[in-house]
Amino acid sequence: GRKFFVGGNWKCNGTTEEVKKIVSTLNAAELPSEDVVEVVVSPPFVFLPLVKSSLRADFHVAAQNCWVKKGGAYTGEVSAEMLVNLDIPWVILGHSERRALLGESNEFVGDKVAYALGQGLKVIACIGETLEQREAGSTVDVVAAQTKAIAERISDWTNVVLAYEPVWAIGTGKVATPAQAQEVHFELRKWLQTNVNPQVAASTRIIYGGSVNGGNCKELAAQPDVDGFLVGGASLKPEFIDIIKSAE
Ligand code: 13P
Repeated sequence: GRKFFVGGNWKCNGTTEEVKKIVSTLNAAELPSEDVVEVVVSPPFVFLPLVKSSLRADFHVAAQNCWVKKGGAYTGEVSAEMLVNLDIPWVILGHSERRALLGESNEFVGDKVAYALGQGLKVIACIGETLEQREAGSTVDVVAAQTKAIAERISDWTNVVLAYEPVWAIGTGKVATPAQAQEVHFELRKWLQTNVNPQVAASTRIIYGGSVNGGNCKELAAQPDVDGFLVGGASLKPEFIDIIKSAE
């Protein structure tokens, strides 16, 4: 089976004091065992060493981005090699905020995923449609094209988690209904089955993100093709622990 996966994307939030407080809350939590759920938190780059060194060993850490190729003269960027050097196992790539605000294309995200995997990182690859695209009936086409740009560039999906995050649900309080999430996750798995292979379709975790909270996580987690969550706002709060517990 696919092990439940809960990621906490802290985005561009936090002071040293706030980060220490979140870490101590997480460290004190009683959680399901690592056999049941894989938990990854993703602080901003500058807090990665602090979080990595102070967080309990059953939590893992992720960066929120990395550069598309080998480091060098790319002012302001952080390379996959640096994350590996710091023993950061995971990276989030293709978040919709980066696609929309920083112009990351499907191809660019696909290149990033391939490069990061090649360096030995595990990748949370984000995809999702805008409200306009949903209303035009093109949701499945959009997420398929985003997934295709990744699939064309990689052959081993072992270290990939696919995060379906409808843009209209991110930070809006408008969570997808369990049926809406399940429908897209099912279509994505079908896409992987047809266009990659049945083994990858059966084993790849497809997680949901967008206004997940302590109150709505249980019902979403109960959907057969929802293998976990990528949590934004609620990952900064104690209710993140309730979301982790929805794995059980
Ligand atoms: P929210 O949970 O704040 O809606 O953010 C979701 C997200 O973008 C996680 O990557």
